[in-house]
Amino acid sequence: MSQSGIVFDIIKYSVHDGPGIRTTVFLKGCPLDCIWCHNPESKKLEPETTTKITRNKVLKLSYSETKDVVGREVTDDEIFNEILKDRMFYEQSGGGVTFSGGEPLMQPKFLKSLLLKCKEHDIHTAVDTSGYASKEVLDSIAPFTDLFLFDLKLIDEEDHKKYTGVSNKLILRNLIYLSEAAGKIRIRIPLIPNITDSESNLNQIAGFLSKLKNISNVDLLPYNELSESKNKKFCSKVQLESLKIQSDESLTKIKKTFEPLGVEITIRG
Ligand code: SF4
Repeated sequence: MSQSGIVFDIIKYSVHDGPGIRTTVFLKGCPLDCIWCHNPESKKLEPETTTKITRNKVLKLSYSETKDVVGREVTDDEIFNEILKDRMFYEQSGGGVTFSGGEPLMQPKFLKSLLLKCKEHDIHTAVDTSGYASKEVLDSIAPFTDLFLFDLKLIDEEDHKKYTGVSNKLILRNLIYLSEAAGKIRIRIPLIPNITDSESNLNQIAGFLSKLKNISNVDLLPYNELSESKNKKFCSKVQLESLKIQSDESLTKIKKTFEPLGVEITIRG
């Protein structure tokens, strides 16, 4: 039976969302509310209208408003036909498809249907997740997922609640579960200045990961100032203006924290 879901973007020829050249499909909806969210337009499950205000450059005496609709209901066949168009690139580069969001596990039936179609065509699959989902949902998609890109933000539960709006108990439990039951897991750590990049938090993450199996990589994701401007467009509560991106020196120091794990560590620019 055909499934439909809400998708808000598709990026082709991505080289940052798993191995090789990939198509990344962004599913709408996220149960978290991270104050640094790089995709704030993804949080609501349903399509939404956003307003962009542009000021007239001459003395800023006037402005114009444009409205964008973010997200559209699509069928699994429609998305899969788009995925199939670049099959040759996946085969040549060892790439495939990554499902991201938002939180793709918020639309489990739609996601499972797309993963199944990929597997039927021998296309490598990755799921980029916050890990905030029920065990039943994980079990329904894990058999068709070659690689999990698992975001790990904060180990302290109170800090996690404060900055993402939810407890991390379920997330950490799911990561332990997947490390026992699933294939490869690539950990992604957003380095948000003064929030997730503290020595204490990173040491705790490294300690937590040291007890897990099947961790293939750790990706360190430096804070991207782009999220500020996007957030200003979509949210009103974000106050990240004073935050500064990490220096090369501090990123090298952070990388050393994870070297004892013996896995490949990447700093994304
Ligand atoms: S988990 Fe990702 S998509 Fe969801 S609110 Fe946090 S940063 Fe945004």
